[in-house]
Parts: sequence; C-alpha cells; structure tokens
Amino acid sequence: MKIVLVRFTVSKMATEKKFRCRKCRTDLFYDIHVQKHLRRNDESNELCAFNFLVAPLKWMSLDEYQGKISCPKCNEKLGQYIWGGRQCMGEVGLRCGRHIAPWIHIQKAKTDESSLSGVEVHAQLPPSMTVIPAAEAPMN
Ligand SMILES: [Zn+2]
Ligand SMILES: [Zn+2]
Repeated sequence: MKIVLVRFTVSKMATEKKFRCRKCRTDLFYDIHVQKHLRRNDESNELCAFNFLVAPLKWMSLDEYQGKISCPKCNEKLGQYIWGGRQCMGEVGLRCGRHIAPWIHIQKAKTDESSLSGVEVHAQLPPSMTVIPAAEAPMN
C-alpha cells in the first residue's frame, strides 16, 4: 500500500481573490487554496507559475485514487486529480518537473478571477471550501 502524504500551506490569513467557474460563475476556490512550489530544474529559486494546483476541497468529488474534477453546479470539467501525484509540466518555456502530490489541478482557462472588495477571514469561508484533511485521502 502506498501512503499519500498530504501537506498544505495556507500562508496568508485572509483571502483577496476568488476563482469562479467561467461557465456558471459558481465560487470554486480562493487564492489561499492555491498551492505554490519552486521549479525543480531551476537554480533561480523562483516559484513555478503552473496554474492552478489547489488544496483538496469539500465540494470536489475525490473518492477515487484519480479522476476528473467537475463544477459542482454545471458539471463542466474543470481539471483532474491524482492522489499519488504527477510531475508538474511547468509554464510555457520554463520546464519544471517537480513531483506534486496530491495533484489537484484546475485549468486556469476554466475559471474567472475576481478580487474581493473586503478582506475575508478563513473562518468565514463557505463549508464547501473546507480543505479535506489527510486522513480522508484514499490510498492506492
Ligand atoms: Zn460551473
Ligand atoms: Zn511546477
């Protein structure tokens, strides 16, 4: 059995942006849910800008070891997840190759970004945006 280690960083105390389904405008995630990593094949110590790798959230159906992520409202395919992870393909012209686990990818082109007028605190995030704890992650 393979054990999937899940560790998420929420570096900021408040959210400034939210991302919605481009098709039906349902709220999907906030900027605090976006996971950042350093590019692997790079000495510059710069963050990889491959978007969007996010934390596993309650609204996603992540019951299998891997599968598609669809919008909870309109069912539009938004991305894919693999608990065991995969190699990041990096940005255009900037290869990455870092192994990211779990791999929870929402395609940037499927979302609309909007800035929040006020500052929302974590405790006020809707329940559907609760991060799934590691204990619930399915094993291979
Ligand atoms: Zn939608
Ligand atoms: Zn990367």
